[in-house]
Amino acid sequence: MPIIRCLALLLPLLLGSAPALAGNAWSAVAYPLSGSPQVIGSYAAGCVAGAGALPLVGDGYQAMRPSRNRYYGHPKLIAFVERMGRETAARGDRLLIGDLAQPRGGPMPSGHRSHQSGLDVDIWFLQKPRDQVLSRADTERIEMPSMVRATEGALNASRWSPRYRDALKQAAQSPEVDRIFVNAIIKQALCQSETDRSWLNKVRPWWGHDSHFHVRLVCPRDSALCQPQKPIPPGAGCDADLANWVRDIRQAALSPKPYRRPEPPSADRLPTACNAVLNGPTARR
Ligand SMILES: [Zn+2]
Repeated sequence: MPIIRCLALLLPLLLGSAPALAGNAWSAVAYPLSGSPQVIGSYAAGCVAGAGALPLVGDGYQAMRPSRNRYYGHPKLIAFVERMGRETAARGDRLLIGDLAQPRGGPMPSGHRSHQSGLDVDIWFLQKPRDQVLSRADTERIEMPSMVRATEGALNASRWSPRYRDALKQAAQSPEVDRIFVNAIIKQALCQSETDRSWLNKVRPWWGHDSHFHVRLVCPRDSALCQPQKPIPPGAGCDADLANWVRDIRQAALSPKPYRRPEPPSADRLPTACNAVLNGPTARR
């Protein structure tokens, strides 16, 4: 490697303040900050103090990819996942839970722009039977199957199950849930199949989210510094805007662009109150 290039790579390390590395300070913290729970900032630029850890296996759910250490959240989020699990168990099934947040929230070096404030959780569409607990190796290995045929703009009917709709509806009808992100093709299919579409208001169309849905909770009462999102417009959202989403997703699948790894979100945008969360003491274990 030419010496100039080598120096250029080393310099930010020597200065110790490269913005690209800042996100890693949050991913390097292994445990939550002790003390009372508090969400600071927004879903895509925030952090969480006093987070709880989701037990990796519970009644009706199991956490996936635990090696990432992203199974932390505000206690309301932990309680929400556990309740979703119990209700799924009552239907004879088990939910597979994706990422929540890092122990103190903050930006992740890969995978998400949000999930920063301990109020977001990804839930796989794929479910397992209630009695089947995956091995630790399988929780790291099993793939998350897509539920859509994007090039056709249609649901993959051979994979979709009414159970997945039940889980979505249950989440959407929970008062602590602010909104849910799903692939627009999935929302469109629900617009066509549901007779009562009132619960679809909280189900928002987005890119990706064809193998999991993303649940976002409202700001908890204990968190004065939590920054809410703009309210969702009224109505089920089964409209022209949704049709445009589906058209764009289908078009993107038909003529895919070469994949460019997105820049990780910067830690520079976090509220200054998050500095104390990052640097404060760990809960005694
Ligand atoms: Zn997500």
